[in-house]
Amino acid sequence: MQQGLDTKVIRKDFPILSTLSHGKPLVYLDSASTSQKPIQVIEAISAYYKGYNANIHRGLYEISVRATEAYTGSKDLVARFVNAASYRNIIYTRNTTESINLVARSWGEKNIGKGDRILITEMEHHSNIVPWQLLAQRNGAILDFVRLSRGSGGIDMDDLKAKLAEGPKMLAFTHASNVLGSITDAKKITELGHKAGAVVLVDGAQAAPHFAVDIGEINPDFYAFSGHKMLAPAGIGVLYGREELLEEMPPFLGGGDMIRSVDFKESTWNELPWKFEAGTPNIEGGIGLGRAIEYLNSAGMKMIRAHEVALTAYALERLSSEAGVTVYGPDGQDTEHRGGVISFNIKGAHPHDVATIFDSEGVAIRAGHHCAMPLVNKVLNEPSVARMSFYLYNNMEDVDRAVGAIAKVRKVLRLQKPR
Ligand code: PLP
Repeated sequence: MQQGLDTKVIRKDFPILSTLSHGKPLVYLDSASTSQKPIQVIEAISAYYKGYNANIHRGLYEISVRATEAYTGSKDLVARFVNAASYRNIIYTRNTTESINLVARSWGEKNIGKGDRILITEMEHHSNIVPWQLLAQRNGAILDFVRLSRGSGGIDMDDLKAKLAEGPKMLAFTHASNVLGSITDAKKITELGHKAGAVVLVDGAQAAPHFAVDIGEINPDFYAFSGHKMLAPAGIGVLYGREELLEEMPPFLGGGDMIRSVDFKESTWNELPWKFEAGTPNIEGGIGLGRAIEYLNSAGMKMIRAHEVALTAYALERLSSEAGVTVYGPDGQDTEHRGGVISFNIKGAHPHDVATIFDSEGVAIRAGHHCAMPLVNKVLNEPSVARMSFYLYNNMEDVDRAVGAIAKVRKVLRLQKPR
């Protein structure tokens, strides 16, 4: 059942999972929002503060050298984790949102002008919509959306091809939807984008934490993800960029560390990736991310994916026998094209009430528009949806507790059980 991942052992690494919520053992089903942190990551951060806290890149003393090595060394781990060519391609930001803003500001200002087209999809998170809206407003560009294929929760490939024929300069799309759970064919879509002459950005916020991402194979120009969704602390994010593009792009922010030389009139820029990291960075974040990646590697990304598929299949099956429950995303029991994210609604219950009643049972889920208002409001035609999402530390009992909470929702809200 566990497909090789020993959740009993894994769960012991996550102190929060042995706490109580409303007097009941916490069931955490909101990892799509942020993940819990294993003791190994917490201790790595604590070891830095206790043993070698110093600024990086400028110290000539031992603890600064150690901090520099730990921080920069984490970039090698990140590069290998997503199969990028080198740490030179790995820019640290605060999160996926900042990574996409960096591209929209730096690459976008230089390359997108009046009448140019930017193509995204209907299932993007706000962080892959708003930076492009702002760029389009500033520079008079046209922002267009690829439709979703009804039912399957995926991208409508015919519509994609038709819109690519209009020659967008940028194609930006998500590798995995935080609402529908759908996993997109990033390699194929990137290939189509490149054939049409577009620069391609992939939002990997819901992908990199959950399955093996191979940038060498997908071949995007930019790939963005967040540390906090993959066991690392908040405030550290990643932007992978193709070297030729990064070299040509102007800096995003100016200040210390991103320069080679500064004169009263002008400055020259540091080499990659430091040209895009101004000021003292999130040192503990980089160190924590490195340790988180080691943890994920030792669990095995293939094992994590298989485990999440098993949990999702079980949850979909259990939800399908709950009358009055609508599940959104890829059709039926399809788990091949779905990550461990299940958005759902219970007939007659507001999703916020659902989440509150789940919470009273110690089950943490999320409800709302999930920062994807166009998708939830216009495509799904719902004001909001409830969402449970899984990670390597969840188990089948967590699913049982969540599905069990549906009965409590019916009881508290006095819903008739639909036939
Ligand atoms: N993209 C997707 C698909 C997401 O799910 C999220 C966060 O939920 C983001 C981007 C933004 O991530 P962050 O808030 O870490 O910048």
